[in-house]
Formats: sequence, C-alpha cells, structure tokens
Amino acid sequence: MHADILDEAAAREQQMIEVALANRPVPKMVYTGECHWCEEPIAFGHYCDKDCRHDHEVFLWAESQRRIA
Ligand SMILES: [Zn+2]
Repeated sequence: MHADILDEAAAREQQMIEVALANRPVPKMVYTGECHWCEEPIAFGHYCDKDCRHDHEVFLWAESQRRIA
C-alpha cells in the first residue's frame, strides 16, 4: 500500500515533467546542417522551411501526448 502511494507520486512527477517538456516553445536542438524533419541540407537554423518546423513540432507534441496517455 505504501509502495502504491510512492509509485503514484513518481508517476505524477513524471507526468509533470512530460507536460513541462511538451509545453516548451522549442526543444533544444543543435545545428546539424540538415533539416530536423526532412533532412534537407540547410545553411542555418533547424528546418528548411516553416512547414517542416510545424510538422516536426506537431510530431513532437503527438509523441509527448502518447507517452502521457
Ligand atoms: Zn525540411
């Protein structure tokens, strides 16, 4: 019974971390020379265009939602 309470607290803390990560405006990413979504070579930034940025953000959000659920 005591262990159940600890597990629940740990699960709740983990969920709070997941929510916090999901709500960050932009994940911390390094410049790789490629679009993070379609892997096109790019001169700067993280994406070749705003559509790739949007698609990747939606993907990351969907991933975070799936982990919480
Ligand atoms: Zn791209």
